[in-house]
Amino acid sequence: MNGHHSYSAHTQAYQSYARPPQQQRPQQSQVSQGHGHAHSHPQAQVKEYPTLNQSSGAKWIKPLTQARISQFNGGHFGDVNLGAVLYERKEDSEEYVKLEVWSAPGLTKPSFAEAIKQEFKPAHKGDSFGPSWTNHWWKVTLKVPENECGKYERVTFEFDPGCEAMIFDVDGTPLHGITGGYGGDRRVEYIIPTSARKKGEHKIVIESSCNGMFGQEGGGIGPPDPNRYFRLDMADIVVPNQDAWRLLWDFTTLRELVDTLPGNTPLQNAALSAANAIMNAFDYRDPSSIKRAREIAQGIFGKDWDKVDGGAGVYDGADEEGDEKGRSLVWGIGHCHIDTAWLWPYSVTQQKTARSWATQVDLMERYEEHRFACSQAQQYKWLEEQYPSLFKRISAQVAAGRFHPIGGAWVEHDANMPSGEALVRQMVYGQRYFESRFGVRCETGWLPDSFGLTGALPQLMRGAGMKYFFTQKLSWNNINNFPHTTFNWVGIDGTQVLCHMTPVDTYTAQATVGDVNRAVAGHKNLESSDTSLLVFGNGDGGGGPLPKMLENLRRIRAVTNTHRELPPVHMGRSVDQFFDHLDKSSERGARLPNWKGELYLEFHRGTYTSHGSIKKGNRHSEILLRDVEHVATLASLAGKKYVYPKKTLDEAWEKILLNQFHDVLPGSAIGMVYDDAEKLYDEVREAGRKMLDDALDVILGGHTRLPSSAWALDQLVAYNTTFFPRREVVQAPLGYSNNALRTQVAQLDGNVGYAVVHCAGGARPAVFEAPPVTEAWGFTPVSVYTNGADHFVLRNASVQLTISNGRITSLLDVQLGRELIQEGATGGLVIFEDRPNYWDAWDVEIHHLEKATQLEFAKVSVVAHGPLRASVNSEVVYGQSKINVTISLDAVPASTKLDSRSMFRFDALVDWHQRHEFLKFELPLALNSDNATYETQFGWVQRPTHKNTTWDMAKFEVCGHKYADLSEYGYGVALLSESKYGFACQGNILRISLLRAATEPDAEQDQGEHTFSWAVLPHKGHFLESDVPAAAYLFNSPLYLRALAPGVTARDLNTSHSPFTLVGAPNVFIETVKRGEEDSYKSGGTTSVVLRMYEAFGGHAQAQLRIAQGLGVEAAYETNLLEDVQEGSVRPLLNDVEHELGLNLSFRGFEVKTIVLILGEKKAKTDKRESWVTVDA
Ligand SMILES: [Zn+2]
Repeated sequence: MNGHHSYSAHTQAYQSYARPPQQQRPQQSQVSQGHGHAHSHPQAQVKEYPTLNQSSGAKWIKPLTQARISQFNGGHFGDVNLGAVLYERKEDSEEYVKLEVWSAPGLTKPSFAEAIKQEFKPAHKGDSFGPSWTNHWWKVTLKVPENECGKYERVTFEFDPGCEAMIFDVDGTPLHGITGGYGGDRRVEYIIPTSARKKGEHKIVIESSCNGMFGQEGGGIGPPDPNRYFRLDMADIVVPNQDAWRLLWDFTTLRELVDTLPGNTPLQNAALSAANAIMNAFDYRDPSSIKRAREIAQGIFGKDWDKVDGGAGVYDGADEEGDEKGRSLVWGIGHCHIDTAWLWPYSVTQQKTARSWATQVDLMERYEEHRFACSQAQQYKWLEEQYPSLFKRISAQVAAGRFHPIGGAWVEHDANMPSGEALVRQMVYGQRYFESRFGVRCETGWLPDSFGLTGALPQLMRGAGMKYFFTQKLSWNNINNFPHTTFNWVGIDGTQVLCHMTPVDTYTAQATVGDVNRAVAGHKNLESSDTSLLVFGNGDGGGGPLPKMLENLRRIRAVTNTHRELPPVHMGRSVDQFFDHLDKSSERGARLPNWKGELYLEFHRGTYTSHGSIKKGNRHSEILLRDVEHVATLASLAGKKYVYPKKTLDEAWEKILLNQFHDVLPGSAIGMVYDDAEKLYDEVREAGRKMLDDALDVILGGHTRLPSSAWALDQLVAYNTTFFPRREVVQAPLGYSNNALRTQVAQLDGNVGYAVVHCAGGARPAVFEAPPVTEAWGFTPVSVYTNGADHFVLRNASVQLTISNGRITSLLDVQLGRELIQEGATGGLVIFEDRPNYWDAWDVEIHHLEKATQLEFAKVSVVAHGPLRASVNSEVVYGQSKINVTISLDAVPASTKLDSRSMFRFDALVDWHQRHEFLKFELPLALNSDNATYETQFGWVQRPTHKNTTWDMAKFEVCGHKYADLSEYGYGVALLSESKYGFACQGNILRISLLRAATEPDAEQDQGEHTFSWAVLPHKGHFLESDVPAAAYLFNSPLYLRALAPGVTARDLNTSHSPFTLVGAPNVFIETVKRGEEDSYKSGGTTSVVLRMYEAFGGHAQAQLRIAQGLGVEAAYETNLLEDVQEGSVRPLLNDVEHELGLNLSFRGFEVKTIVLILGEKKAKTDKRESWVTVDA
């Protein structure tokens, strides 16, 4: 979404900014002419104070004068004021403008080359085009007779189709964008090149697209109107009176000085006097009066201020090195915040990007001081593919230092929900793209609009080469005012980045006097830093900065060259330079305040839950690719014929990263966007499963296939892609099998059989077992009791759950005899009325908690009887919705940790048809703690369970990943999730948010069928001593079942060696195993394996990584996230530690480490004793 949001006006007292008057631009004194009594009669020069005075001189009535200046352009006096002379001539007859059009069929979006071949038909001004989202191509022939137009400074073609459009030259090079309609973002003029005017005829091609800046909605957030039409309002050759326009820009700046400078200042009065004098001097019938009027304006801007390059010279001469007094306090940078999808789909964003960036390249050619920063590698890539000639022009401007790639990420992603590894990939793919195309990496992270920022980000940004960070969204907080502007943002692990949140409170500033003034007046820690970034330009379809903004900034700067009442603004530098300046001037951050931990946005809290399917697509895709990379890496080392599917993996990652855009993953886009996003997830799933199958085939020796009816399925094997040992109850795919498999299960309920898979370690296969389910074999057999209606009990020797009258009345730790449900309270499903104040899909508001309805589990039936698994199914009917939940308990604990308890698993199938209601699951726990713990990327974050302060109250709904936990000394209970991100803990009630149902901007959000799961995990000991992070990891990581080929038995598989094992630190997790980004897959090329590990609990650790000898690792490096292997980062390998290599690693709490292992030629030995794989396929 975009920054069209009202900020609170900062009405700070008058401030004066130290700035010496510059010698080369002496202060002018003629501003006093024209106000008061003397304006109508030029006075004769008098040499002395006169003795007699017979005039009627009087003080002005300031408010009346101030009101007068709004009458200078347009409005009621439009035919006699400046507005009457802005154009010298307009021509729209066919003699001058010939229009032909071709409408692309349906919602297709043909390229220029395809479109230009079609048959075009005559068209006329006033014609209408539609419906919504359709594209129309125009051939425009302009006639500009030299004898008529040669005398004019500028001739333009104004084209206003009411919607967005792009102007191309006849060879297909995009020239610039058009934003039609009559809003403040309007930009419809195309300057006809002088060469074309001489020639007499000029041809261009235009693509107009039937959507507005904000899709099909007039500024609101409602669902798009699918049937909107747009009228071609203007297609005119126009001769602007450039002097009149310059006067208009002069006057605009003066008016802004009058209207937005705080208080009664000399400059404000002088500006008003000058504006008033201009109105007196101007006569619409007398062209020479424009020149006189502009001379009056020079009294404020300085004599001849625009003589050098039309005013670009105002920026010269300041900010000399060491000139502290003369330095600029406000650094302007052009920007265009283009939402990668929001109220329009991805395909429309591709057009918006091309239009906006073409417009900026065009402006750079006319405004030498103009610099433009733009993020999101994905948008560059689209442009490169779809508009190669424009990409070339942009590349040239990047090389010239004018067009600045920024942000170092694939998209401006949501920063709450992507996994830690996905955030790493946002930056790896982003930085690698920028480096490959432009030879540069970004130094500044750029997420102005993301809905809250995880405390994991500083460490990850630093790891990706970015030490600076720009953001803005916290100015939207609806409870507390964030206290800093420039500060050290210190993440959960202690890593910091230098962060600036512009005090202008927007990243789509209009570059007005008010914006410039607010850049300092709104600064929240001027005591430690006094420089601000002005990020200006229209976002989305607005095309970025407009010429009028650059003109305004020149005049504002001219004012500050001679006056001290506005902060000096500078142009022509980069955001990186701005941060370099902050870095240096704050003594490397030592003078700045710190903010520790997450930047929680006190707004848009519904986005952790809105659009359940997108959340599930994200989590499941992230984990699928993690697993694919892991097994594909091992397969690529084992099988000489197998080639690591780097390209397919890259494509899949790019799809996941794209869908993490900050209006897609949060669920705040229109329905069309989710159609596209779901399709991308389908493609990831399909490609991922195929890659997984191919790699498992290699790792498991080529003997296995997916369970399918074509195979006899005598024996099954499971592959554990995690690095945790695990023992799990699995359901056997009996439906595919002959009776052989039926005899191998330890429990049979009708047609469903259960067996056990025991993986003694991670990253290896394990066989399918059916041992006796007894305590002697390490099981806690489960049982289920029900009265068949409204009461049931699931139990094993570890835990017990009782549901009575549809509510959870008891959760018991059987071993301790400890009741975990608060006495007199019950847990279960609950519905809240969910009617936020405005931003429907975005917000759940604090008052939703005041209106709750508890739901009851009903129609209970037993579906699994034990001893391995006991399950009951229950159905809840609520409104038009059906909520079917299966609750299960297994005969194994949640993890292999000693004392681990079993978890209760809830598998839901929901047919959801509510509107503006919020489904959650809650447990009122007999536990007392001020804080609850939620998983975040590569660690956890705690938030209060109480509401002492407004900062505590604001966190009534929070983001978590795979777990949320409430613990006290000695005990705790966690909720695990496989696809949900919304949680809360109010007092002792721990909740997981399951489904919402907003109607804007997607009228059908979350309507229909959903499947998802969560679990309740009691644990002995506090969270910090628990197995919750590991159990949640396993809960999200399926075992992959495979069938052994006929004649092969499980014993033929070597299941005893893992390629990588971590010892000595149960708090360090291996997250990622992949091939190196720079690996070559040709023979003789580099072979490397990258491991990403992190400390998951927040404490120090000394771990040893054991590496199977058979891999042939020759060297190990500890690198940044970008895998930069450097001489100094080599780490010693210890030889032959129990037939393995050892690598000692020390971690600080929440530290993320990247290890790159370089492999030699002798990779993948076939010696069975040492190898982690038996077959060299
Ligand atoms: Zn946005």
